[in-house]
Amino acid sequence: MEVKKVFLAEDEMPRQWYNILADIKMNPPLGPDGKPVGPDALAPVFPMNLIEQEVSPQRWIDIPNEVLDVLCIWRPSPLVRAIALEKYLDTPARIYFKNEGVSPPGSHKPNTAVPQAYYNKVFGIEKMTTETGAGQWGSALAFACSQFEIECKVFMVRVSFDQKPYRKSMMEAWGSQCIPSPSSETNAGRAALEKDPDTPGSLGIAISEAIEAAVSDQTGKTRYSLGSVLNHVMLHQTIIGLEAKKQLEKIGEYPDVVIGCAGGGSNFAGIAFPFVYDKINGKDIDIYPYEPAACPTMTKAPFVYDHGDTARYTPLLPMHSLGHAFVPPPIHAGGLRYHGMSPSVSQLVTEGIIEARAANQLEAYQAGVIFAKTEGFISAPETNHALAGVIEEAKRAKDEAKEKVILFNWSGHGLIDLEAYDKYFAGELYNFVLTEEEILESEKVFEDFPKPQLIKSR
Ligand SMILES: *Cc1c(COP(=O)(O)O)cnc(C)c1O
Repeated sequence: MEVKKVFLAEDEMPRQWYNILADIKMNPPLGPDGKPVGPDALAPVFPMNLIEQEVSPQRWIDIPNEVLDVLCIWRPSPLVRAIALEKYLDTPARIYFKNEGVSPPGSHKPNTAVPQAYYNKVFGIEKMTTETGAGQWGSALAFACSQFEIECKVFMVRVSFDQKPYRKSMMEAWGSQCIPSPSSETNAGRAALEKDPDTPGSLGIAISEAIEAAVSDQTGKTRYSLGSVLNHVMLHQTIIGLEAKKQLEKIGEYPDVVIGCAGGGSNFAGIAFPFVYDKINGKDIDIYPYEPAACPTMTKAPFVYDHGDTARYTPLLPMHSLGHAFVPPPIHAGGLRYHGMSPSVSQLVTEGIIEARAANQLEAYQAGVIFAKTEGFISAPETNHALAGVIEEAKRAKDEAKEKVILFNWSGHGLIDLEAYDKYFAGELYNFVLTEEEILESEKVFEDFPKPQLIKSR
């Protein structure tokens, strides 16, 4: 029998995260005055220990034991060889994936939610606020806060709140409060409701509400949390790739191709950055983040300075952006509907170290169904975009008759997203294609902002 799964023992779990900031140079985030923002400016929003991590130049950062204890609930996650998928595709490629769907909330997101809750706890924070779109991030933070006995309040985009009641149930099971956004509890929410009482809400408004709820709490014991995009989030996710490297080593394998889907960039960074490190040091690897064609940040939008949220509360970040006011088409991969990208992922794209690609919605579901029929697992809509890329690469390996090793991140299961599969089977899912005019129009919002420099790290 061929090797199907590779496990690590708990004591083989990585003890340090990999910080890519040690190996690349980036443009600094800018404040409203156009000057670089110092750590102090972020202090009302995040605890100082996480801000220090956000700007740390140290290559390896210790994972606290208290964090490892919680990660051990589901980590190390299995590395699985997709043998049945290989056979189905009749490809000479060997395909491996990290199963990040085995976490309690069902995705990679608790890899950062847990350390974030821990550092907040250590800093004396008693309550955390956040936003959630489809509910994956809100449920991950709810789970993490329950482990460290921190109160948690989640602003969930109204349309998802109504359509996906089970994510809210999960948050409540973990003791968190989940309310629809816009709400009447914040200025940002009230303003949005006044404009349109029937608004479906947006991630932009929800972020504004969650930040406002944190900074306006008079006790000073509430902070905000973000589930992707920022440096410390990418850092925490590298445990995925570091584990994968050890697991592949055990069976004498090394990837030729690394793939992850990309919304804000965190699960992609998680599997890819430890291999980016190798590539910077001379290895020959193709590394592809896959984004949805309906929200083509890296493949169609320019590298600019823009805000991370619609209400412009965040500093200006150097990233590929479709414009902070861009409302992505209603594809079902809610986690990929983001106008921007993690600055570190964007920096790697500008340097040509990684190469962004896009998959459309129907390709993604087609790939998801092939995966379900071969490997059994039903993937999250976001994950299906990575699968579309994997199938494309496996077919290329066949055309070229090359025995490539493909590694990808199976970022989460889709058991709470089955409605989208129903629609796919009923022929009610469509591809959305943005026109050049639409993209140019949405990019007007950053026309007057400063421009980032094109930096070569070496
Ligand atoms: C949130 C989510 C994503 C997208 O977010 P990234 O920060 O780009 O990883 C991808 N897959 C799943 C399952 C998610 O929940």
